Amino acid sequence: MSVIKVPEADAAGWRCAACDEPMSMKPVELEYLESLFKVELPVCAKCGYVLIPEGLAGGKMHQVEQLLEDK
Ligand SMILES: [Zn+2]
Repeated sequence: MSVIKVPEADAAGWRCAACDEPMSMKPVELEYLESLFKVELPVCAKCGYVLIPEGLAGGKMHQVEQLLEDK
């Protein structure tokens, strides 16, 4: 499974709100449109909190939608 990189997601400058740890980019499994994808997102190394950028939370995963259309 290929890992999707989202331009909006950038770990630089993000810190976990709960434990104030710097976040690092990690592939995270997301379910979207009944399919499972790996998306690289900022993750807290301490508590595992995943930062979902606004673009993703709003359902605008254009890259994923394009992948689905290519099938
Ligand atoms: Zn944390």
